[in-house]
Amino acid sequence: MKRSKIASLLATDTAVGTIVDVRGWVRTRRGNKYVQFVALNDGSTVHNLQIVFDMNKFNDEELKPITTGASIHVTGRLVESQGKGQKYEIQADTLEIYGTADDTYPLQKKGHTLEFLREKAHLRPRTNTFGAVLRVRSALAYAIHKFFHNKGFFYLHTPLITSSDCEGAGAMFQVTTLPLNELPRTDEGNVDYSQDFFGKPTALTVSGQLEGELGATAIGEIYTFGPTFRAENSNTQRHLSEFWMIEPEMAFYDITDNMDLAEEFVKYCIRYVLDHCRDDIEFLAEHYDKELIDRLEFVLHNDFVRLTYTEGVEILEKSGHKFEFPVSWGVDLQSEHERYLVEKHFKKPVILTDYPKEIKAFYMKQNEDGRTVRAMDVLFPQIGEIIGGSEREADFGKLKQRIDELHIPMKDMCWYLDTRRYGTVPHSGFGLGFERLLLFCTGMTNIRDVIPFPRTPKNCEF
Ligand code: ATP
Ligand code: MN
Repeated sequence: MKRSKIASLLATDTAVGTIVDVRGWVRTRRGNKYVQFVALNDGSTVHNLQIVFDMNKFNDEELKPITTGASIHVTGRLVESQGKGQKYEIQADTLEIYGTADDTYPLQKKGHTLEFLREKAHLRPRTNTFGAVLRVRSALAYAIHKFFHNKGFFYLHTPLITSSDCEGAGAMFQVTTLPLNELPRTDEGNVDYSQDFFGKPTALTVSGQLEGELGATAIGEIYTFGPTFRAENSNTQRHLSEFWMIEPEMAFYDITDNMDLAEEFVKYCIRYVLDHCRDDIEFLAEHYDKELIDRLEFVLHNDFVRLTYTEGVEILEKSGHKFEFPVSWGVDLQSEHERYLVEKHFKKPVILTDYPKEIKAFYMKQNEDGRTVRAMDVLFPQIGEIIGGSEREADFGKLKQRIDELHIPMKDMCWYLDTRRYGTVPHSGFGLGFERLLLFCTGMTNIRDVIPFPRTPKNCEF
């Protein structure tokens, strides 16, 4: 027989009364000498399907290997359940045991802490919590592609190994095949990268943006969606060393178009999750964050507040609130400042624009005031910064001047400057951290719990 997924059996009543074939992992078994009940989960949904074994048809020995974690294959009739807690159940006709799981199986009982499960990251997908998170993650990835394709954007694949180390977005992981114990040296005593794999220093990308701009200034509107690497030693609940980023880049967009797109985009993602992952979101809300659904709805139904960095800093200064890091014009805002604006002051998502140029990247469009650039950060409750973006400097002279001021080696920037040298256009883009969006959508608080295999400083298991 062909396998049915539990999600589709529970979704409609069309299979009721028919013989079905289900396969999955046992969550629990209980019962007495007349009847035994198995809660079966196959990963397609957070809900288990109850399998009823009539002990007139089966014997104790056959059912003995059915312990928590074992994998089984059952056929039987799907019927409406008489018991509480589930709508349908299967009256088992046949049983095949694929694999047993003895009492060393680490996920014996319910209610393990997230910390414990992080140590068992190779098995945690078999828990309800991580099943739910992984399904939401997959749905959201699909929604992101759908959103951009519906708008006519092209999916651009930017490189993961790069030789441009001037993005300034964060510290990089070097990529080399040189023997680290006996590095080849030049006559001056420096490492001789001409002998390295690519013949020069290379690293894992911290952002696909610069290459994204090459795409946007050719095929109009592009987005990237791929892994990103940052070798920053930041052990926070919001930073990973390997994370996924979505970076749209659009020709002929100014900063307002950019903000409009960012707002529409995150609202689309949230709507998608509410519409397509309801069971998982409800499960996560019940177990981790009672306000999750209200918060998602709230973001959907409110315009994001837009104000300048300067206005934001004024609010923070006047607030009288004691921040761990003092705030004044010119400082880079900390997460506590961002969250104050969002959670305490406006109680809405906020888009801050026009930051001091010193704390932002060289490629951002310079304002007439000579002090600020046309940056925009989208700030969310619980998380702080979820998106960082800007209108890009389109003027060759101004961009080159900024590159000189920051002593960025011109030889590395030549290819990038060609976008301004030839047929330059106004354009804009932003970067959204996929896992930060997932934190918001799932109500999880630690970013290590929304990616299957987290990489953080001193941690690279599995
Ligand atoms: P933060 O100040 O939070 O470190 P950033 O200013 O370094 O962020 P950008 O360089 O603008 O961030 O990157 C764009 C987006 O990528 C951020 O808005 C965030 O959503 C995400 N992001 C950045 N660094 C990380 C990280 N280490 N782990 C997960 N997501 C990240
Ligand atoms: Mn950072």
